[in-house]
Amino acid sequence: MKIIFLGPPGSGKGTAASRVAPKFGIPHISTGDLFRKNIKEQTEIGKEAKQYMDDGKLVPDEVVINMLKARLEEDDCQEGFILDGFPRTTPQAEMLDGITEIDVVVNMVVPDKIVIARNSSRVSCSKCGEIYNLRTMPTKLKGVCDKCGGSVVRRPDDEPDVIKKRLNIYKEQTEPLIEFYKKKGLIRDVICDNIDQTPEQTLEDVLKVLEEFSS
Ligand code: ADP
Ligand code: ZN
Repeated sequence: MKIIFLGPPGSGKGTAASRVAPKFGIPHISTGDLFRKNIKEQTEIGKEAKQYMDDGKLVPDEVVINMLKARLEEDDCQEGFILDGFPRTTPQAEMLDGITEIDVVVNMVVPDKIVIARNSSRVSCSKCGEIYNLRTMPTKLKGVCDKCGGSVVRRPDDEPDVIKKRLNIYKEQTEPLIEFYKKKGLIRDVICDNIDQTPEQTLEDVLKVLEEFSS
């Protein structure tokens, strides 16, 4: 199964993708996580990406594409994968089209108001990257990761001003991909229009959409 998760920042696609992946026994590949890992390890890719990310901008296609291509060549991707946060631009989608065939694109449809509210209450573990939400998915102990005990913080790009910028960039650069995949008959919408919808409910909706493909 080769699955893409499409949706605005804060649509819950990362959380859903990370829970769907083990059910299908395929890796969850988040380009955002790959960049954050590179930043932490102070690699060349990390140094290049950081300036764009902190500012809420997209990392240049060339950098993302090379990193993603290398990731897809690894052994664990041969049976399938979930892409979360890739593709985000038309050139990225075209590149992907040239190297593999996607089975389905899960399109998370979330109103702007909810996106903004969600992102401003989103926090994540500075050590393992686990995502939490102060409203809907808090840590058991305040500020401490349930999984690894690391400290839980707000990402620099989740500051309110930066969120609006990321949302605009999503509309300009990523939303056209819905049409791109619609033409191929691959789009399946998952609607999340309730601010207090739990990750479990979202996961259920996503799995329902994927039923058609799993057998
Ligand atoms: P979100 O989905 O909440 O925006 P991500 O973790 O997916 O968060 O991405 C964080 C940042 O990483 C983006 O704002 C962007 O700077 C960079 N990034 C991730 N994926 C891509 C991509 N495919 N193309 C360009 N930049 C990317
Ligand atoms: Zn952690």
